Amino acid sequence: TQILNENFNKETVELIVDKKIWGGKGSALITMSCLGIDVPPGFIVNTSLCSYYNSYNSIPSEVENKIKHAIQSLEDTLSLVFGSIDNPLLISVRSGAPISMPGMMDTILNIGLNDEIVEGLSKKYNNPRFAYDSYRRLLHMFGTTVMQIESNLFDLPFDYLKISEGVTSDHHVSVDGLKKLINTYKNIILEQSKEDFPQNVYDQLFRAIKAVLDSWQSKRAIKYREIYNISEDLGTAVTVQAMVFGNLSEKSCTGVIFSRNPSNGDNEIFGEFLLNAQGEDIVSGIKNSLPISIKMEKSWQIINNEDLSISIPESMERLMPDVFVKLKNISKKLEYFYGDMQDIEFTVENGRLWILQSRSGKRSSLASLKIANDMVEEKIINKKQALKIIPIQTFEQLLHCGLDYSFIKIPPLTCGLPASPGAAVGMVATNVKDAELMAKMGKVILVRNETSPEDMSGIAVADGIITARGGMTSHAAVVARGMGKSCICSVSGLFVDGKNIHINGEKFPSGTYLSMDSTKGEIYLGQIPIIASNIPYEFEMINSWINEYKKIDIHANAETIGDIESAFSLGATAIGLCRTEHMFFSPERIFYMRKMILSKDHSDRVFNLDILEKYQQHDFEKIFEISKGKAVTIRLLDPPLHEFLPHDDKEIKEFCIQSNSIESDVKLSLAIKKEHNPMLGHRGCRLAITYPEIYIMQVRAILCAISKLVSERKVSEYELYPEIMIPLVSNVNELAICKKLVQDTFDDFCESLNDNDLKNSLSKISYKFGAMIELPCAALQADRIAEICDFISFGTNDLTQTTLGLSRDDSANFIATYVNKKIWNNDPFVTIEQSTVGELLKIAINKARSSNPKIKIGICGEHAGNPESIPFINSLQIDYISCSPYRIPLARLISSQV
Ligand code: ADP
Ligand code: MG
Ligand code: MG
Repeated sequence: TQILNENFNKETVELIVDKKIWGGKGSALITMSCLGIDVPPGFIVNTSLCSYYNSYNSIPSEVENKIKHAIQSLEDTLSLVFGSIDNPLLISVRSGAPISMPGMMDTILNIGLNDEIVEGLSKKYNNPRFAYDSYRRLLHMFGTTVMQIESNLFDLPFDYLKISEGVTSDHHVSVDGLKKLINTYKNIILEQSKEDFPQNVYDQLFRAIKAVLDSWQSKRAIKYREIYNISEDLGTAVTVQAMVFGNLSEKSCTGVIFSRNPSNGDNEIFGEFLLNAQGEDIVSGIKNSLPISIKMEKSWQIINNEDLSISIPESMERLMPDVFVKLKNISKKLEYFYGDMQDIEFTVENGRLWILQSRSGKRSSLASLKIANDMVEEKIINKKQALKIIPIQTFEQLLHCGLDYSFIKIPPLTCGLPASPGAAVGMVATNVKDAELMAKMGKVILVRNETSPEDMSGIAVADGIITARGGMTSHAAVVARGMGKSCICSVSGLFVDGKNIHINGEKFPSGTYLSMDSTKGEIYLGQIPIIASNIPYEFEMINSWINEYKKIDIHANAETIGDIESAFSLGATAIGLCRTEHMFFSPERIFYMRKMILSKDHSDRVFNLDILEKYQQHDFEKIFEISKGKAVTIRLLDPPLHEFLPHDDKEIKEFCIQSNSIESDVKLSLAIKKEHNPMLGHRGCRLAITYPEIYIMQVRAILCAISKLVSERKVSEYELYPEIMIPLVSNVNELAICKKLVQDTFDDFCESLNDNDLKNSLSKISYKFGAMIELPCAALQADRIAEICDFISFGTNDLTQTTLGLSRDDSANFIATYVNKKIWNNDPFVTIEQSTVGELLKIAINKARSSNPKIKIGICGEHAGNPESIPFINSLQIDYISCSPYRIPLARLISSQV
């Protein structure tokens, strides 16, 4: 309250406000009151109580006393008394974690009412409907959150009451009806929890605070933290705040707005509100709300098609023009302060506007680019800040965005509100359990009447979410946008009944395939192919900002023409890992590969290698041609040979027939070649030590491809930057042999050329030679290895496997247990283990730079495209990241944010 009336500048506010201490909601409330925005007065119990409470399951008595003192100063500020009959103070007890977890935790409104006070309140305002409406809300919320009674038990009698009185809106229920309902609620509470609703207001207060603290450990909150990787230790703050009443009169309301359109990013206030209601009603998205602006009225009518027959819904802009203008100004003020689009909760009590919450709004990928770009143009933020407000999923989401309309021959089954753009195709699941089961077999679309936080794990496994009810700010819409999933809400004619869904009277069982275009809001029967969307024009602009700020190069792991082309179009500046073994798996090639591996002698092997060389040359020609001007790092053969060999009797038979060999002979050679632990066996450059002709063939294929391209003038020698990379190097002696092999092959090849021009051109190509560091022994002698290399690249998959002694192929079934038991924070094959693998990387980088300061250093492997690992990789100050093509925009964005 002290800081309430002073005008603070941004720096001061930022000094005071720490989300870790006050939670997101509390910090925003403090900030807003510093900015002179009307916020109901209150106080915040900081997050440290939560960790204490989690360990001891009680609130220390000195904290209890402080809370009582704070209530007293709240009473003094407002000249109201908590527990008084004539002049009661009512309060809300609100959760608020440092990281927003929308709808995951509990909030209880109207605390401070009991059987007597409700009558006092009614007299004070001369408004019994309002007083009893507030009391029934308290009983309901207290009953469900504090006493853990099922919400349904409260909903049903209320619905029944409305039907029997013939009203549809909550605020039209009669006072007598409300009084009866209150008695029913008190009986439900007594029956279900074997105790009366506490009449002592301090009892109510402390039990509510404990319930909020308990909600940090609720199943759904734990699940949410798991999905979003939020630390358990943060805890929630508890905000205790004087109530303002949106349910007081027809001049009162409650609502949610976004400072910009969260769907397409347009710079216009967007949102919904409910007349004569309290905040919970709107957040649940179940009730019929009204649009905020005149502009939204038309679309609102289409969305809430039940109202089509009635007149156009009146917006706040029409009904409460003054409040609308104030709200718009406040939304701009907050947007300026935070430098980001805001999601704002408000309540109007008898024409007076109060703001109850503000946070960065979830938005679609399209919107996030437009908003970032617009806010820079409007000079609200600079480019650097703009990059930080683009959610990292954005770029990935942009990449798979629409149904292929050339396949659509039928009209949509039905339409709804395009709540989160994109597209999804999958089987209908009507509940979380089914969704989780079905997701193991294929893509799933979760279809519900509406979603609630209990549906989180179903939403997490689904590709798309469809709901019959709920608007743009409904649970489903907010969560889907945040997760970058397709979502359509308010679907007309949809009704979910057990395992079936009904659309316009037609029944479809769970498992039916649907396709959804959530950019348009259309739902089709059957499976329609998905194609990448038109990338909005802001994309290029933002990519150029990314180039300004990121320090690391982003290369691609790619070897097929399609992958390489998409990699370049998505911003890769080179091919950082071209895996040559992927070229040997097509049916006609694998036959020669098998013959080569099972060759009786050297000449037999060379014969087969010559055939493979032609194939490989052909591939390299195409790769170099489309990569002209860019480096291509080619990794020579890496996997254990058994991966290419026939696996079962049928394959062996086929091979014998095709190669005209005797089955028992083949089986014998297979038995000899068999390895017990092939990933640590005869693979990588170990193959070249025993069979140098394999790598010689590959280097020749590269050189043949280059000379063909150069002599046919398809690519000039100045546009070719081949890099040859040796996998699974364990020490410098081994690498030296490989290096000599490559150099000799190059020299021999040039020597053998008759064409002097070509010879001359080839001599101008300076290929680079490098090693993959993927064994601890190599990392520990990276200085010696670096002496004979132009570059090194860390293969973090194998490095994780060999550092942790953890088989990539056999650990999947127990890694989850290790993560659950907190032995590891994450799956080490997904997120780089900084304390071990990360340490080895640091050691190796230091050593490599000490002996060869000019050496180029990169990382390839899954971790290079993992959002949690990319900031760490950037901190290593290496030259490049190489990841799969679809991760490139994300890797670029995160690297620029870092
Ligand atoms: P959540 O984190 O689920 O959004 P909130 O703490 O924001 O929960 O509260 C839920 C709803 O109750 C919000 O819509 C908010 O506007 C409303 N609310 C909370 N405190 C008050 C208050 N003091 N007066 C009026 N409405 C309130
Ligand atoms: Mg809220
Ligand atoms: Mg490897």
